[in-house]
This record gives sequence, structure tokens and C-alpha cells, in this order.
Amino acid sequence: MTRLKPITISLMLALTFCFSNVFAQPSERDNYEGASPKYIFYFIGDGMGLSQANTAEAYLGAINNSNGIKKLKLNTLPKQGFYTTYATDRFITGSAAAGTALSTGVKTSISTVGMDAKRQKPLQTIAEMARDKGYKVGIVTSVSLDHATPASFYAHQPTRSMYYNISLDLSKSGFNYFAGGGIKHPEGDGKVDSKNIMANFGMGEDVDLKDKLPNSIELAKKRGYEFVNSVKEFNKLKKGDDKVICIAPKLVGGKSLPYFIDQNGKTDISLAEFTEKGIELLNNKNGFFMMVEGGKIDWACHANDAATVIQEVIQFDNAVSVALDFYKKHPDETLILVAGDHETGGMALGFSGSHYHSDFAILQHQNLSYESFSNLISDYKKNNIRNYKVEDGLALVKKHFGLGDAEKGLELSEFEMQQLKTAFDKSMNYNKKMKKDDQFYLLYGSYDPFTTTACHILSQKAGIGWTSFSHTAAPIPIRSIGVGADLFTGFFDNTDVPKSLMKLIENK
Ligand SMILES: [Zn+2]
Repeated sequence: MTRLKPITISLMLALTFCFSNVFAQPSERDNYEGASPKYIFYFIGDGMGLSQANTAEAYLGAINNSNGIKKLKLNTLPKQGFYTTYATDRFITGSAAAGTALSTGVKTSISTVGMDAKRQKPLQTIAEMARDKGYKVGIVTSVSLDHATPASFYAHQPTRSMYYNISLDLSKSGFNYFAGGGIKHPEGDGKVDSKNIMANFGMGEDVDLKDKLPNSIELAKKRGYEFVNSVKEFNKLKKGDDKVICIAPKLVGGKSLPYFIDQNGKTDISLAEFTEKGIELLNNKNGFFMMVEGGKIDWACHANDAATVIQEVIQFDNAVSVALDFYKKHPDETLILVAGDHETGGMALGFSGSHYHSDFAILQHQNLSYESFSNLISDYKKNNIRNYKVEDGLALVKKHFGLGDAEKGLELSEFEMQQLKTAFDKSMNYNKKMKKDDQFYLLYGSYDPFTTTACHILSQKAGIGWTSFSHTAAPIPIRSIGVGADLFTGFFDNTDVPKSLMKLIENK
């Protein structure tokens, strides 16, 4: 062993003392002696990092002809913080591990929902704690109710893919209001050995799996839940209605709400409307806790579809706006948090090919989501597989993305035209082998090649870059206003968010 000089040792001791002093300093959280918020809104933008929100602001600025940005409501909240998101077994997290960190204050492993990293122990969530303290609890999301983020607030399952077990936990929670997307597998997941896992985690009383899996929606009704899935029934819900599961009348892929860009104001229910209804049903003398997730910001980012991301962020912001209106009536009793679970797509305001140029307003020429456009392409393929024409594909991108429309200033360069033609050919001749090809993946991810190319070209013309079809580890901003908001400022870890929330309601 090398001998340390006395001076080195004393320096080390001094440093140890200095650092331990820093860490030993009682945090603001531990000293909190203020009131508990009576009304708590916990907004989570799935996949929403700094750039997703800021791109929406740049877009709103551009279409309103103002220089710079037009602020989202969520960025008018006066307090800001940032946090790290890593999971126990991967630096770049996923929605289950991040959701669990944000709901329980404990870091866990990838895909684990509401349990410790070894998938042995269920962890108490902030929503359960709120319920036990007498708050009414609401869970609202634009994706399915049993998806990783919402599930992290009421379910305790070793993996997020056990949708059936998660949906059993849903009605077991006794929470008062579930709203948004559907239930993915109400009659069982098929592959998962649910019985064994349920026996391990003390949930064996729910089902006898030998013969059948009881429908989890029917089971929820037996447990006293009202099940609603039409606009008419939704409108009829009123103050006093309790234990409601409220599912959007029209569900698209993954039993989610249609993308905001594809929604019809008359026949669809938006995230903001679900949030507003939540306030009406949950408001009572003991207060409420409501988690609202913008779940498809993430999905649109995975697909690198900037215009759809922006509309999803706007839909999410409209829901935040509903909470802010409520806050204005109850400023001394309300806390609003607007957070995210992780960034998706490595979205950047700036792209190598467009240098310093940006033109966010052109994104308004896209009139449907990548999902709807992919459906158009797959319909076209079904009908024209033997005689498809690249001109037809180009006409579709002109109609739905504005690409190639000189009047919109969206002429295509030779290079862009070539990218579209190549991608259209790939879309028409797609086979599973292509997906395994590295170059194919770098260009199109696991999406329809023609759709992804159209999304990329429009993004690039706008001055938006994408580095990934997956998540990134960029730190996530959190904004807050109201009772206890000070605890959410600074640079910390995602687990600190529920720890601070728990501290706030501990003595309620
Ligand atoms: Zn994701």
C-alpha cells in the first residue's frame, strides 16, 4: 500500500468532514412545518423533457407571428426544479421504473411497477398514502389506465406487461376516479403465470386461474365501481358520484385516447375534460389528490413526430390550465406539480442539416398523427400492392404533411425526394427481415418507413432534430405552484418528488 503523507490525510479528513457536513445538513424538506395542501395535482408528461415543452412554445410563438416563444401555461408556474431519472439497473430509464420512483420515492428496476428493485416488496405510493389520509384520489391518463405510469400509483406487480394483474389492482385500490384510456387485457394476459405471481405477492384471492380469468371490469363493478364509456354518460357524471371508471368513447392503438391532432371535439373527450370532471367528482371537504398523465407525448416522440408531439403537449397543457383555474379559487390550499418521467427521442431545437435555420410554423401543415398516416399507408398497400405508384405516396405526404407543396414553402430537395421514394418502396415491400437490419433501424426505427421519413423531413425543415427512437437520460424539469411548492426547487432526484409530497401530507 502506498503511504499517504500526513498532509494528504489531513486534506482527506477535511474533505470528508466538509462533504459529510453538506450531506448532513437537514434539508428544507425535513424542516417543513407549513400546512398540508388540501388539493394536490400531480401532472406527469410522459416523455416530456425540456425540449418537448419548449418546442411547443416555439411553435406557438411562430404561428402567432411573435418573436421567440409563446409560453405554455405549465411554464407560468413560478417554481422550477430539475431531477435525474436513472433506474437501478439502467441509466436510461423506462416509464415503469420512472413512474415508481415518482410515485413511491424508491428507485426500482426497469419494468417494475410499484415494487422494489428485486421485485419482492410492494412499495407504498403517494396516492395510497393520500387515500389513507382521507383524500379522494383520481388517476387520469391519455393512455390505457393499466399502462406503466398510472399503474405505478395503484398497482404492485413485478412487470408492467402484467396488464391483467394491474387491472385487478386498479379496483382493489379503492381510488375514487379513474379516467382516460381503456383496460388492455380485462380477461387475462395469456402468457403470464398470473396465479403463481399473485400467490407470491399476496393477491391470490382475486382469481382462480385454473379454469378462467374473471373479467377485471366486471370485478371492478362488483367492487362498487361505476363503469362509463360514452360521452352521454360522461356528461351525466356529477358531484357526489364516487368510484367511477370513465373510459374514452373512442379508443385507438393500445386502448389510448386518439392523438389530440386526430381528436374530434364533439365525439372525443380530451385530457382537459377528464381533468375537469375529476375536480367536480373528487372535490370534498377532505381534499383530493389527482395524478394526470399526458401519456402519448412519449409515443409521438418514439415515432419522432414533432407536430403530434406539440399537439400532445398542448393537450396536456390544457389540462394544467384547468388545474390553474382551480388554483386561483383556492390558492392557499392547492399544490400543482407539473413533472415528466423521462425525455423521449432526444428531441432538439436544431438539426445539423438546417444549420441555424428554424421554421416551426411549417409544422401546422401536418394534419394527422404518424399513427393515422401509417394507417393510410397500410390501407393503400392493401389495395395497391401489385401496382403501387410512388406518385400516390408523394400525393399523400403533400396532402397530410404539406411536403412538396411550393405554396406552403415546402418544396422538396432532390435528396429529400430520394429519401421519400426509397422509403415508399420499403413500406410497400416491408418484411420482418428488414427490421433486423441496423441501417433500416437507424432510418425508420420500428415504424412504417414512409411515415417516419415524412416526419423526419418535416422536423428537419422546421429545424428539429431527433437522436433516438427510445428514451434519453436528460434531466427532467418540474414546475410547481402553491402550498409546499418550495420543496420542489433545485436539482435533485426523481425519488425526491414523492418524498417531498409524502412529507407534505404526513401530518394531515
Ligand atoms: Zn416510452
